[in-house]
Amino acid sequence: MFHSARLTLTAWYLAIIMAISILFSLVIYVNVNNEYRQLEHLEDIIAERRMHGLPIPRQLNRSWIDPQLITEARSRFISRLILVNVFIFGVSGVAGYFLAGRTLRPIQEMVDEQQRFIADASHELRTPLTSLRSEIEVGLRNKKLTTHESKALLESNLEEVIQLQRLSDSLLELAQAEKRSSRLQFVKISLYDCIDVAIKTLHGSLKKKQITVEKKGTNVSFVADYARLVELFVILLDNALKYSAEKSVIKVEGKYVKDHVEMYVIDEGYGIEDSELPHIFDRFYRSNKSRSKEQISGYGLGLAIAKKIVEDHNGQISAKSTINKGSTFIIKLPRK
Ligand code: ADP
Repeated sequence: MFHSARLTLTAWYLAIIMAISILFSLVIYVNVNNEYRQLEHLEDIIAERRMHGLPIPRQLNRSWIDPQLITEARSRFISRLILVNVFIFGVSGVAGYFLAGRTLRPIQEMVDEQQRFIADASHELRTPLTSLRSEIEVGLRNKKLTTHESKALLESNLEEVIQLQRLSDSLLELAQAEKRSSRLQFVKISLYDCIDVAIKTLHGSLKKKQITVEKKGTNVSFVADYARLVELFVILLDNALKYSAEKSVIKVEGKYVKDHVEMYVIDEGYGIEDSELPHIFDRFYRSNKSRSKEQISGYGLGLAIAKKIVEDHNGQISAKSTINKGSTFIIKLPRK
């Protein structure tokens, strides 16, 4: 598709350049040809005066050129014009092909990205759907299904449906995050304000695992979109608690660094392998460990959304981690 689009665009570039070049050549040819005609006309005037025995003015005589020379000059001129046009055709063909490639590259990258996204999303959807289908099929085939077994089957189905719902919510969130960048509402906010709301949102899960969140350092304030910053900290705290053992502590710290604020979410969890750190912000990326742990739910979209939020605020997000010691997520945002 990319190649044929590139050829089409090259053809358009070529058509436009050649139309201009041919038009230019025609204008030049018409003007130069008029000059040649005047020289030929001179020859007619001299011949007429000779016929009538009239004197030929010196000026006319000096300007006289052999008509054969005029014809030769005209055809030389035409062939040069053709040559120039052929040259322009060749050069603009090559340049057009190169430019078309450069113009289309970002579009191609976007299309590739979308295709990858669709492939990943369908892959993630297929797993719970397949298990849902096979469970229902097995249940239907079993003619002696007891009420107790039916209930267990429905409960398991419900779990799969909840998972699917979570996935569709995350996908929707990601799609909205892509759109929202131009509609941010910047207000002055503080780190602890965002953290308090995020803690309230995650209250149930924090309580279940008896995990506490400690606020340390400075309660830095900065200008950002409040709702999105809360969303960012919900994602980071949710991960910190998902990937930590029970009764552990999550620390949140802030500090001013020149005209930026730096905020840290530090956990004492399982940690992330060095080889996996560069990929955790990719869409649908989940470490092998988290994939294998059935009880840790997720689709690898949280950190991709977090990264988008931070980038929309012209900031940076990074992570460092030590296996079995914990991970630290660092967010750097401009103060204004
Ligand atoms: P999800 O948590 O839904 O799998 P994320 O995009 O939030 O997706 O995270 C991607 C991966 O990064 C996770 O699967 C996990 O392996 C790793 N990860 C993220 N946060 C942490 C953390 N605090 N501790 C350990 N691993 C983490």
